[in-house]
Amino acid sequence: MDIQACETVVAGGGIGGLAAALALSRQGAAVRLIEQASAFAEVGAGIQIGPNVTRILRAWGLETDLRRVAAFPQVLLARDARSGRELGRLPLGERAERLYGAPYACIHRADLHQLLLQAVQAQGVPLLLNQRLTDVDVCETGVALRTEQGLALQAALLVGADGLWSHSRAALGLHEPPRFSGHLAYRGLVPLQTPQPQAPVTVWMGERLHVVHYPVQAGHALNVVAIVHGQMPADLQDWDHTAHTAHLFQALGPIGRPLRQTLEAVPQWRLWALNDRTPLTAAAQMGRGPVALLGDAAHPMRPYLAQGAGMAIEDAQALAQCGAGPGAVAEWVERYAALRWQRNAQVQARAIRNGRIFHAQGPIRWGRNLAMGVLGARVMDVPWLYAGMQ
Ligand SMILES: Cc1cc2nc3c(=O)[nH]c(=O)nc-3n(C[C@H](O)[C@H](O)[C@H](O)COP(=O)(O)OP(=O)(O)OC[C@H]3O[C@@H](n4cnc5c(N)ncnc54)[C@H](O)[C@@H]3O)c2cc1C
Repeated sequence: MDIQACETVVAGGGIGGLAAALALSRQGAAVRLIEQASAFAEVGAGIQIGPNVTRILRAWGLETDLRRVAAFPQVLLARDARSGRELGRLPLGERAERLYGAPYACIHRADLHQLLLQAVQAQGVPLLLNQRLTDVDVCETGVALRTEQGLALQAALLVGADGLWSHSRAALGLHEPPRFSGHLAYRGLVPLQTPQPQAPVTVWMGERLHVVHYPVQAGHALNVVAIVHGQMPADLQDWDHTAHTAHLFQALGPIGRPLRQTLEAVPQWRLWALNDRTPLTAAAQMGRGPVALLGDAAHPMRPYLAQGAGMAIEDAQALAQCGAGPGAVAEWVERYAALRWQRNAQVQARAIRNGRIFHAQGPIRWGRNLAMGVLGARVMDVPWLYAGMQ
């Protein structure tokens, strides 16, 4: 298969879909992207991107833009949510560059999305907005696609990057809905009067809760995420109210003053119910024939390893690299799925485990604190992850 002759449709224009469109078009593939929204507008808050991800953005020529909009924390601090005591620290900054050859960055989702969008537009990829994929039929020449708005497309390859509630998954016979994790994420941004582009990533750990904050927008704002256990709110679609700050403090229970002050500085909270899927168990769950899944469509995960978008970007790079090999589209997809599924499964599983460790109670909490204090960076670093795909 000549990747350049392969007409590819990417379904979904989130971080994963744009990354796929960019990686494939840079390789010379003829790509079209369809997105259900009528405009590209990322909601959400900050995300962390480890060296495994910034290395790829660098390879795509995006480092200068990344340096302009991201923040680059020098250290990750773990602290006790109640006492405020430091539990452990992992140097990031120069250490990440030295060990992993790329920086550890924190960025607002909208900034990363914009950066990818501009790069995709510069590649001349047609972006078809207001097109919601509804039908995928696998046929002799690839896939026949149809959108709710009546657009019909033929393609040799469909890249399903349509997120948590992916429609593309059905083409692989995957019909199970995602599951609610039992965890809720409250997210907010605190504007900073004095920019702090190198402020730490701080993880406050408490019983059945944790809070993470880090700088974004080149240090002009602090992104704050508080995770608590709870029920899926019935009014989630409408949930965007300052008044619900009281719910958060109630769910957190007793917390120390330094953490309380940071949380009280958040002018407005937004709420996310966290859903995921069980870790992948087979390559066929990532792609088969003319259909490849990518990002949350394939492997939505809890955000406790800060790698959901990161894995979508790694998927995109792997998909483009696999396309450079010999054989038909189906062989390309097979190589991609084989290369990616175990790493994604490992990250999904580690994210679940991290949640248990962050929220630990009793003896497990005691053991965690001891290990962090004694071993520090050795238990907090994740070399197999940050070193990138092998
Ligand atoms: C609280 C929280 C914190 C997080 N922190 C981090 C972090 O620190 N680091 C990190 O790497 N990740 C983090 N993540 C995860 C990350 O945000 C996601 O994994 C990532 O954004 C997934 O990108 P995606 O492109 O696969 O899916 P999405 O962003 O969901 O994009 C899917 C796109 O497809 C479109 N679409 C859907 N259905 C259709 C259809 N039928 N037809 C056409 N278009 C369609 C949607 O409109 C959307 O634009 C976090 C997530 C949460 C909730």
